[in-house]
Amino acid sequence: MSAVRQECIVPGCNRTAVTRGLCHSCYMVARRLVKNGVTSWITLKSAGLATGRQYRAFGTGPFVIAFAKLQDASAEPSNEEPAEPENTDAS
Ligand SMILES: [Zn+2]
Repeated sequence: MSAVRQECIVPGCNRTAVTRGLCHSCYMVARRLVKNGVTSWITLKSAGLATGRQYRAFGTGPFVIAFAKLQDASAEPSNEEPAEPENTDAS
């Protein structure tokens, strides 16, 4: 059985994937983009530039896969619409 070494899914990047199918440096960039509201993990995922979080500790059954999707959907709302600015109009 050959060792399962997952490569970063970003084209041209051959480093070892550590998180979401990305290597550490790609993940850091992606995370910053998501954090700054430039994109979302859901968008990156549909563009093939990230995978869902994995819950390997809990197995790989259908429930875990569904659960991972649920987590992605709830923890990372899409950034389609800009967040409304805080209403600082204090009465
Ligand atoms: Zn990479």
